[in-house]
Amino acid sequence: MAVKVAFMQLSSCWGCHQSLLNLHLGLLPVLPELDIVYWPAVVDFKMSSLEARPKGDVDVGFCEGCIRTEHDEHLAKLMREKCKLIISYGTCATYGSVKGLANQWKKEELLQRKFQQCESLGEPNDMVNKRDPELTPIADIVKPIDRVIKVDAYLPGCPPRKENILGAVAFLIKKNPTTMKKDTNVCATCKATPCILEKGKLCWGAITAGGCSLMCPNDNLTSCVGCYGTTNKIDKAKADKVKAMLNAKKASAEDANLIAQFILLYAGLPPQGSLYLVGDPLRKLALGAKMEFTDDVMGASLKALANNPNYKFANGNVCATCDRNGNMNKKMTQIKRYYEGPVYDTEQCFINQGYICMGPITQAGCGAQCPNNGNTYCYGCYGPVFGVTEQGARGISTIASLADVNIDEIKSKILDPVGLFYRFTLAASEINKKVDDKKGGEKKK
Ligand code: SF4
Ligand code: SF4
Ligand code: SF4
Ligand code: SF4
Repeated sequence: MAVKVAFMQLSSCWGCHQSLLNLHLGLLPVLPELDIVYWPAVVDFKMSSLEARPKGDVDVGFCEGCIRTEHDEHLAKLMREKCKLIISYGTCATYGSVKGLANQWKKEELLQRKFQQCESLGEPNDMVNKRDPELTPIADIVKPIDRVIKVDAYLPGCPPRKENILGAVAFLIKKNPTTMKKDTNVCATCKATPCILEKGKLCWGAITAGGCSLMCPNDNLTSCVGCYGTTNKIDKAKADKVKAMLNAKKASAEDANLIAQFILLYAGLPPQGSLYLVGDPLRKLALGAKMEFTDDVMGASLKALANNPNYKFANGNVCATCDRNGNMNKKMTQIKRYYEGPVYDTEQCFINQGYICMGPITQAGCGAQCPNNGNTYCYGCYGPVFGVTEQGARGISTIASLADVNIDEIKSKILDPVGLFYRFTLAASEINKKVDDKKGGEKKK
C-alpha cells in the first residue's frame, strides 16, 4: 500500500520543496509508492481537505518553514494532528534559518524598519498602520517547529541536498524484502562450519528473520548483522550465547563497529547524515542519555556500546567530506572576506586562506557542496555538529583559537558576528529558548 504523505509550507522560501522537485526523474522510482494527499505548493489542495481527514490519517508529514505567524502555528499543529510521523524539513523548520536572525529585534521594530524606514521604499509611508487586520498576527519571535509541536525526525539543509531527501523518502517507504521469512531465522539455513560464534566472533543470525539469499556467514568469516530484522522464531541457545559474549567483556573497537552496524540495520535506522530520528538509540548513547536496556540481545548490544571508549559515533563535520587541502593546526594570520575580491585558490582550505568557514562546526550530510562545488566556504546551513547546541559560540571559539590576528582587525572584518556565526541557528539557540520560555513558549521534544 502506498505511503500517505503531506507536505506543508510554513514561513519559508519554498526552496526545500524546490529541492525535492529538482530530483526530476530521480523521483520516478519512489512516486508510485507515495500517495500525496496534501502539497499546496505544487498541487491545488485546500487546507479544508487536510482538516477533514481523521486524526493520524496521514503516514508522514514534511513541514518546511519556521513559525513566524499565528497561522504557521495553527498549520504546524494541524499537521501534527493528522500525521503519524512529522519530519522537520529543512533548516528553517529545524533551526529557524536566516529568518531567525530577526529575533535580535522586537517585532514592532522589524515592522517599522521594513515598512516605514527601508531605503528602497522611497517616501516614508504608513504601511504598518494600514496592515489588513484580517492578516494573521505576527508572532513575537521566530521559532523552529519543535518549539510548537513534537517532531519525529529532522532533515536539515538550506535546502536539504536532493540525495538526502531521496534517502529519507526511501527510508520512509522501505518495505521488507519479499524473501523475508519471520517464521525462521538465519541460523536455520547457515552453512558456516564451525559456527562463527564458536570462533569467539559476534553474529546475530539467531535473532534475524530468514530468507536472505546472500547469507554472509556462509563464507565462514562474515557475521550476520541483522539486515532482515526480527524473527518470530529465535534460536534461543545461540541467542543466549551472543548475549553472554556481549556481557562478558568490553567490546573492542572492531566489535563496537560491528555492534553499531547491527543496531542500525536490525532496528531499521536511517543512515547517519540523511535523516535524524528522535529516539535513535545510537544517537542517544553518543549523547550519554540515560537509557534502560532490555534483557535480550538488542539490550546487551546497546549496553556493550554504552560508556565504551572504543565506540566512536560516526557523524562527522563538513570538513570530513571536503576535498580541499587543509591543516587545522595552521594559524590564521589574516581574516579575509568575500567582498575583498575573488577567491583564486580553489584547492586550499578556506580557513587556511584566512576565510571564516563554518565547516569544522557544521554537521556532515551535504557532501561539502559549497567548498567542493561552489568555491564558497561553508555557511553552516546543516546546523551544529553532533552534541553541540550553540553553533555560533562554537564557531567563535574555533576561529578565536586559530586566529593569530590583532583583535581590532578581527572586529573591523567581522561587522556582524551574529549574522556570520548564528546565520542559521539563532532561533534554536539556548539564548533564544530562554527568551521564548519567558514568553511561555513550549518545548515539545
Ligand atoms: S531551509 Fe532554506 S531553502 Fe528551505 S525554506 Fe528555508 S530558506 Fe528556503
Ligand atoms: S550464529 Fe551466525 S554463523 Fe552461527 S549459525 Fe547462526 S548465522 Fe551461522
Ligand atoms: S574549506 Fe572549510 S569545509 Fe573544507 S576543510 Fe577547510 S574548513 Fe573544512
Ligand atoms: S557546505 Fe555548509 S553551507 Fe554549504 S550546503 Fe554544506 S552545510 Fe550548507
